[in-house]
Amino acid sequence: MINESGRIFVALRKDGPAAGNGRLPMYHAVTPHCRMALCATEPGAASGWAEPPSEAVTCRICLEKLARLRKAGFGYQGFVRE
Ligand SMILES: [Zn+2]
Repeated sequence: MINESGRIFVALRKDGPAAGNGRLPMYHAVTPHCRMALCATEPGAASGWAEPPSEAVTCRICLEKLARLRKAGFGYQGFVRE
């Protein structure tokens, strides 16, 4: 789990075969029990987020949003992993 400025996120990738063909899966910052990631992407209707969560978000847009949250106040706390 990632704790960014008091908000909790988990790094999740979309379920399904998209992670294949030699590319690293993209991990998004997702609020627990929420379908939509920080970057507003969400898994297709027939699938969900794949378990287990990763330790780190790799989606560029999600990372930018996390950085913005960090700047928004509360001071820098870094990533807290549980
Ligand atoms: Zn994302």
